[in-house]
Amino acid sequence: MSTTLVTGIAELVTNEPGLGAGPLGLLRDAALVVDGDRVAWVGPAAAAPSADGRVDVEGRAVVPGFVDSHSHLVFAGDRAAEFEARMTGTPYDGGGIATTVAATRAASDAELGARLRRLVAEARAQGTTTLEVKSGYGLTVDDEARALRIAAEVTPHTTFLGAHVVPPECAGDRDGYLRLVTGPMLEACAPHARWVDVFCEPGSAHAFDGDEARAVLAAGRAAGLGVRLHAGQLGVGPGVRLGVELDAASVDHCTFLSDADVDALASSSTVATLLPGVEFSTRSPYPDARRLLAAGVTVALATDCNPGSCFTSSMPFCIALAVRELGMTPAEALWSATAGGAQALRDPSAGRLAPGAKADVAVLDAPSFVHLAYRPGVPLASALEL
Ligand SMILES: [Zn+2]
Repeated sequence: MSTTLVTGIAELVTNEPGLGAGPLGLLRDAALVVDGDRVAWVGPAAAAPSADGRVDVEGRAVVPGFVDSHSHLVFAGDRAAEFEARMTGTPYDGGGIATTVAATRAASDAELGARLRRLVAEARAQGTTTLEVKSGYGLTVDDEARALRIAAEVTPHTTFLGAHVVPPECAGDRDGYLRLVTGPMLEACAPHARWVDVFCEPGSAHAFDGDEARAVLAAGRAAGLGVRLHAGQLGVGPGVRLGVELDAASVDHCTFLSDADVDALASSSTVATLLPGVEFSTRSPYPDARRLLAAGVTVALATDCNPGSCFTSSMPFCIALAVRELGMTPAEALWSATAGGAQALRDPSAGRLAPGAKADVAVLDAPSFVHLAYRPGVPLASALEL
């Protein structure tokens, strides 16, 4: 295994408070040494050990690669027309998912795989080094299992989302579809999935209520999968407290929360993952990050990249939104997009740059991480290829 010294780092975010200043563990004039796929050393450049190779980033900032803990990247087709209609006044209710389901079922494995790899490369070019990828546009036993097989080629963080919506052909038989999801579909998908997820939104005719969500998550957990869910996107509902009760790694969206939801999250190890690209792309009110942070809830940021409600793969864009629209500080937003995402995936090797962590390094074409929000829309971040 060969070692590489990365030097010339104006500002290094480690996310290890013991290694540097503040909650981000910030070091200036720093260096790090990578050994194979792991970080071997971090510290002041002047004290850096020698290594087999050397990369000089010439006064740029280095941060942990972004952890995008929520994406839906196995799909075909696009919904630009639906987006245009929404921007012309048609409200979002999740109904357009059926359009993507039809296109995805009609696509070949090769087409789905190629589109997925293109999106993963797009995310990586913007600094994302860990991605969670969900199924949820197949909604048959075979189509969900193949989505997860294809996703597993690019990430270990694969999520079975057969309970995304009730597909149109099952609209008259919700119970039958739930039996399929918790029975044969789960059985076919569990070998390719790490997580189970459900779109819990009792106000939407397309999604699932609390009892239905509980059945899906309990079945997934019994099959050995970790629990995560979509809740609180369109209104207050039972999903957040259900997630906490089932020890979900994360409850995602959390735009609409009761005080009891916030209290439950604060006294749990469940992360609240905010997806502000969705509110941006659906012209909806943003979640209240300050309320969650004040209560002591662990907050993550992710893209929710999907063809309907938010088609961005850019974590820097989400960081800029979180700072401008969610009231987060630049440091809070960066932490949530890296270490917060790692907690949402229960992956302690990601989201930090400290000895033993994965060598997932993002370099910014800027002297400080603050530029991620200070220069919105500018492509500053990229994964460092070592
Ligand atoms: Zn989602």
